[in-house]
Amino acid sequence: PSSSSRQIIEQTERFGAHNYHPLPIVIAKAEGVWVEDPEGNRFMDMLSAYSALNHGHRHPRIVAALKEQADKVTLTSRAFHNERLGEFYEKLAKLTGKGMILPMNTGAEAVETALKAARRWAYGVKKVPEDQAEIIVCEGNFHGRTITVTSFSSDEAYRAGFGPFTPGFRIIPYGDIDALKAAITPNTAAFLVEPIQGEAGIVLPPDGFLKAASELCKQERVLLAADEIQTGFGRTGKLFASEWEGVVPDIYIMGKALGGGVYPISGVAADEEILGVFEPGSHGSTFGGNPLGCAVAIAALDVLEDEGLVDRSLALGTYFIEQLRGLQSAAIKEVRGRGLFIGAELTVQARPYCEKLKDLGILCKETHETTIRFAPPLTITNDELDWAFERIRQLFETD
Ligand code: PLP
Repeated sequence: PSSSSRQIIEQTERFGAHNYHPLPIVIAKAEGVWVEDPEGNRFMDMLSAYSALNHGHRHPRIVAALKEQADKVTLTSRAFHNERLGEFYEKLAKLTGKGMILPMNTGAEAVETALKAARRWAYGVKKVPEDQAEIIVCEGNFHGRTITVTSFSSDEAYRAGFGPFTPGFRIIPYGDIDALKAAITPNTAAFLVEPIQGEAGIVLPPDGFLKAASELCKQERVLLAADEIQTGFGRTGKLFASEWEGVVPDIYIMGKALGGGVYPISGVAADEEILGVFEPGSHGSTFGGNPLGCAVAIAALDVLEDEGLVDRSLALGTYFIEQLRGLQSAAIKEVRGRGLFIGAELTVQARPYCEKLKDLGILCKETHETTIRFAPPLTITNDELDWAFERIRQLFETD
């Protein structure tokens, strides 16, 4: 007999580390934008696993690719070649327009990879003196949870008690081009930036910032590393959010939706001058580039293209943002976003609203206390969005 939601939650809380505070719902089954708990209650998923589920839950083509590959070979390690890795490289290289790919598993590892590449590039190509390379990041950033990545977080909750930290990082206010200019020195290797800050609460930089930052980086010989882990693969209505300002970063950092919502796969794309800095032994990962992950990623990229998910995100997102902006509620301070990457900032705590939305059949999660993130799978239909809006309207307008 299957356990009840209550039993499952108790077991999870009893034996697990408490590094998350999930809403009290157990997802036992899922398909497309819909999930179901063990008791058979259905909910619409408007979080999409922090944008890892851009293709929706269990996309049939992606699951088929997973199963087909699982019947052949799943893991080879990089001690040997596998049949799918080259194909994955070529596809992602063509998509990003970059010369080389380096595959990893999680987002944080891809960020670490980009940082290592940037430092080596600084020493080997730019001729920065040994151990002097600097990397500029932004206040409010979120790039993952490793010690080095938390070293340059500006959020105490992410850092407290985890020192000593990795040196070599400078923090500037997000979107401040003058601060970027002032922070660059002859030792600057890279500027690492989220084109839209996700975990900070769907924060858009001022118009023109990314473009200006990109030009400044070129002038100063600083690598622009765009963390597109959450914003990539159609989430913001463009393939990559950098495109909103016509920016082509030197380094694309990717993860989440690259794995089609079924398998963790991440990676970095850059030209040979940058990724060519790694020789055998200097970097790697046991599971990175494994054939199962590659098969899934290839299918995920195919689906993105064949189903026009990028354009869909733009059209539906524009529509949904307009609708949300029309809500008559004193609790809503601002609605912002691009494509289906939308934040509604409230004048009050967001958590109770997320809990009430759950009772109305919609799953979303607060980010930074007062913002609700609306980021459904890009496969969502117009009718499904209207269904969601009706419930959101009900909550805010009868509040
Ligand atoms: N970078 C960004 C912009 C993210 O949003 C995230 C995750 O939320 C990460 C990096 C870290 O990814 P992962 O949790 O897969 O390590």
